[in-house]
Amino acid sequence: MSVSADISHAKALMTLRACVLMSVLLVMPATRAQWYEREAAVMGTAVKVEVWHRDAAAAAEAMTAVMAEMQRVDTLMSTYKPDSALSVVNARAATEPIAITEELVDLIGLALDYSRLTQGAFDITYASVGYLYDFRAHVKPADDVLAAALPAVDYRHVRLDRDGHTIRFLQPGVRIDLGGIAKGHAVDRAIDLLRTRGIEHALVTAGGDSRLLGDRRGEPWVVGVRDPRTAGDVLLRLPLADEAISTSGDYERYFEADGKRYHHILEPGTGQPAGSVRSVTVIGPMAVDTDALSTSVFVLGVDRGLALIETLDGFEAVIVDARGGIYYSQGLTEP
Ligand code: ADP
Ligand code: MG
Repeated sequence: MSVSADISHAKALMTLRACVLMSVLLVMPATRAQWYEREAAVMGTAVKVEVWHRDAAAAAEAMTAVMAEMQRVDTLMSTYKPDSALSVVNARAATEPIAITEELVDLIGLALDYSRLTQGAFDITYASVGYLYDFRAHVKPADDVLAAALPAVDYRHVRLDRDGHTIRFLQPGVRIDLGGIAKGHAVDRAIDLLRTRGIEHALVTAGGDSRLLGDRRGEPWVVGVRDPRTAGDVLLRLPLADEAISTSGDYERYFEADGKRYHHILEPGTGQPAGSVRSVTVIGPMAVDTDALSTSVFVLGVDRGLALIETLDGFEAVIVDARGGIYYSQGLTEP
């Protein structure tokens, strides 16, 4: 072998080594686990997902699946879209039983369970008067219009055939809306999607409803509860792992008229916005439950709301009342 051939062989070897080193460096960031996050506007609110993953492409696929799932639930349950499954129910269920999917049977069934548990404070037929409000346009119904529509608000007007997968309304004028529970359901579905992909640490948030998968790698997730009157101010920080947390507030969608705050959580008995508290935060295992319960406790108020939470295993609550006082369920006050 000539000297020059030897040199070129050594050069080739060096180039090869450099290539191997470079490809190792290029591959390294993708094989080292890290946090990935994505945000999008779905279901009329900000959806955020954060996952810990060792593979960038797999993390991206998982986050895309979450956003698609949120979109799917929104399309199914929107009452703004005239061809959504729920809009079809609202248009026709007072005339005849309407076939619905198992997913809707289960969710509406759970909503009706919460109506019974809360003695009607949580009631998806609130929508029978709810549609008369437009919080963006600052519209509220005239007293006589509200009074005429109010008899249709009663969950007992809903007949759900859980085996036959149909729903019907026993009275004309009844409408339902799953706005108080659907986001929690979507968040739970999203967490299931991440879990089946082997992900062990994640956060999914849709507006006021969040669920945490695992911890934040050796530390708890820290979820802030905002001050209901000062945007940007955090009232308290809750360290959480493997839990769901939902906040219902009177500051999300509201307007003021004749000295009163008109917001989107209605008292089924009166058709008026519930006025005794400013915000309710509920912690528990699943977001579908914390979502329904935060809306429920908002309507029930401090005393009845906390009494309800104390009867439920694994659930805690923080309530800010109409004067700014803060109330905690027992599990949060015990050291
Ligand atoms: P957000 O939508 O801001 O997360 P909530 O979870 O508290 O807030 O849900 C409020 C929504 O619940 C309203 O926008 C409406 O769709 C629905 N809702 C309002 N009042 C009631 C009620 N009494 N029972 C059940 N759902 C309600
Ligand atoms: Mg809710």
